[in-house]
Amino acid sequence: MDKTIDQLLSELTLDEKVSLVCGDGMWTTPPVERLGVPSLKVTDGPNGARGDGLMGSGTRTLCIPCGSALGATWDPELITELGVALGEEAIAKGAHVLLAPTINMHRHPLGGRNFECYSEDPLLSGKTAAAFIRGVQSQGVATTAKHFAANDAEFERNSINTVADERTLREIYLRPFEIAVTEGGAWGIMSAYNQLNGVFCSENNWLLTQVLRDDWGFDGFVVTDWFAAKSTAATANSGLDLEMPGPGNKFGAGQLQAAVEAGEVAAEQLDAMVANMLRLMERTGAFERPPSAEELELDRPDHTELARRASVCATVLLKNEGVVPLDVSALSTVAVIGPNTDRAQIMGGGSAALVARTNTTPLDALRAALEPNVQVTWARGVNTDRTAPLVRGVGTLEYFVGDYEGDPVSTSTSPNMRQITFTTTKEIPENWLSRMTTRWTAPESGRFTLSLMAIGAASLTINGERAIEVAAEAPRGDMLFGMGSEPVEHALEVAEGDELTFVVETAAGGPMGPAFGGFQLGVFAPEPPDMLEKAVALAADADAAIVVVGTNDDWETEGRDRDFMALPGDQAELIRRVAAANPNTIVAVNAGSPVTMDWVHEVPAAMQIWFGGEGMADGLADIVTGVAAPGGRMPLTVPLDPRHVPSHANFPGENGEVRYGEGIFTGYRGYEHTDRAVAFPFGHGLSTTTFDLGAPRLSASEVADSETMSITVEVEVTNTGTRAGAEVVQLYTSCDAPVLARPPKELAAYRKLYLEPGESAVATMELDRRAFAYFDPADADYAERSSGGPVPAGGGASHRAEPGWYVDPGRHTISVGRSSADIVHTASLTISAAG
Ligand code: BGC
Repeated sequence: MDKTIDQLLSELTLDEKVSLVCGDGMWTTPPVERLGVPSLKVTDGPNGARGDGLMGSGTRTLCIPCGSALGATWDPELITELGVALGEEAIAKGAHVLLAPTINMHRHPLGGRNFECYSEDPLLSGKTAAAFIRGVQSQGVATTAKHFAANDAEFERNSINTVADERTLREIYLRPFEIAVTEGGAWGIMSAYNQLNGVFCSENNWLLTQVLRDDWGFDGFVVTDWFAAKSTAATANSGLDLEMPGPGNKFGAGQLQAAVEAGEVAAEQLDAMVANMLRLMERTGAFERPPSAEELELDRPDHTELARRASVCATVLLKNEGVVPLDVSALSTVAVIGPNTDRAQIMGGGSAALVARTNTTPLDALRAALEPNVQVTWARGVNTDRTAPLVRGVGTLEYFVGDYEGDPVSTSTSPNMRQITFTTTKEIPENWLSRMTTRWTAPESGRFTLSLMAIGAASLTINGERAIEVAAEAPRGDMLFGMGSEPVEHALEVAEGDELTFVVETAAGGPMGPAFGGFQLGVFAPEPPDMLEKAVALAADADAAIVVVGTNDDWETEGRDRDFMALPGDQAELIRRVAAANPNTIVAVNAGSPVTMDWVHEVPAAMQIWFGGEGMADGLADIVTGVAAPGGRMPLTVPLDPRHVPSHANFPGENGEVRYGEGIFTGYRGYEHTDRAVAFPFGHGLSTTTFDLGAPRLSASEVADSETMSITVEVEVTNTGTRAGAEVVQLYTSCDAPVLARPPKELAAYRKLYLEPGESAVATMELDRRAFAYFDPADADYAERSSGGPVPAGGGASHRAEPGWYVDPGRHTISVGRSSADIVHTASLTISAAG
């Protein structure tokens, strides 16, 4: 960068300035060539740098574990390593900004994007986010912590109004973002689609300026979520810097110029926005590294090793009655069973979906680990498809303009029969047409059902015969980000090995206008009547059974919340029957969010492997064979029943509004407040070894309240078992006599240690003022309001004059535990009032 930001600001014209705060395509901003100001490229997302594809298309790329899995590692060093790898991948895709991390909260287990988010606890979310951001940004790639804020479900996400009090926001929903900014040094923030207390987040000055910049000192850029801008002047005046994608609906087509010329947006405000964008270019080295249309596939064996290790570190061993790891030398047959065995469910759906470098299935990984010494048998047991599984196999995708005559304007390949396109490039202008062709071989004989859904008008031909038509005005379903039509089906009788040509033609058009379109073609296979029985019979004949159950990227996806918490289909029945037939049954839950585990008492071993990224299947094989020890702890509570969830009465919302009525009592804070039994508590996770936690040593037993107060807590940890493993020491704080209502316990610090058998180490943790503080929004005019009544009224809570973070003087308890419910030691700290 040759010139300073101030110099550039003085040389840019109004038109040029406006152009810099508005995208010019789905993933890019325009350059100002005259002054050498570069274009920027951004890419999703949280579990990999996808490049410029969408919904699982694009260049192959590293796929790391999903967000909840990252939360389950409780390991900031590992998260930073993963961040570094994604920074490298983003550069390989020619991008400057990674649209990640997703740090909304697990407010309810049915939240559709929970799999992308880290935890129900704000500290664990924030620390994980900060570690991720430090890793990505160390490579000169910016992050955008998203979606700011209170976008904790998908229900009516473009319009819903989250109603939450300031204390709840500050302590729970804003806190991860605060840590991402103050400890992670985030260079970017993405605003959320929803409204917060009646104001859309993308035009919310309180959120984007007062809290983010004034309170937390943020000096980066704020980008809208895609298509989220609702206004011109209010958005620019709120502290938002960049409308995406381009051409902007609200900043584009001269609208922002006009607002500046009319004085609705001050010239200084626009300058501040442009300065934030120039600073982003400077930070990401964009002046020296213009975006590249070419996207590289990295060949990095170290990334392969990292993905596998990360998946092992994230896996939470929930229950183990001596089955994990299997004694492989004593086995002759292992039955691998379940709907998630022969498909690699390594990521969730929506904008987080990408084309992973590898897609090893649990079945393939277990075969590779066990054969030939152990015979592996296999059965799916049940089907769990919500909608027709995507037709996979290489498809040729061609775009045309006007009609299908002549040469296509663009040709590429796709790994599956889905495409979603938003374009206004010269190559593929508005009103495009597309044709995708693939050869399909019938895997078995029987009656298959093809299912087509599309954004605009579409048709399917099979061997040249028209089979399905979808009209542009067909009723909408919930696929393709909610823009897709209801599925239209076609039955197909085939013999095994039949080869057919499927051609889907579709035209841009539909709810998002003439630049947007896409489709998805799926196929249901015939379902044999004895699937479950066959699986149970295999389990009965084997020495051990490994059952991989769960959801998939259709059950857990952006754009819709989950309908229920139970495992889809007859999976619970499958687990029960297999476990009854084989005493050495291990259940692996392959899902990004908690599922109902009422079957867990009937199985000897269960673990949560999440959507574990491209290393998941090999990691699972490592764990069951004892090559590696599972290291995860639950970043969320698994309730016994979704009706027990603290937010349940206020989920997902009604009449356009969701009230965070449970306030700060979310997750374990809420279950503990009402003493509600749960299936697995927050922080829970076993190891294949045992650990002793020593009594905590505090650097002081008394301290005076001050901004800089700090207490060091040391806990000695010893691996008392016979295997290497990881322990997570968790510190929770509580105030013995709180002024305002407070949860029984709140996570205040944690430390993960990897120890060899017999090894000891000290976990050292710092507790700062925030570890004991709560946010009091204050009630300055209480005295005036409550005076003058004839009868004295009860009362007592603080009614402070000034809002802020307060620490109650008196005794505080520091609990040391293995989960929020398994406290091993407590210690007291007395805090005296600030002098
Ligand atoms: C999602 C964002 C994502 C953006 C771009 C939106 O639908 O909410 O998380 O980064 O699309 O794909």
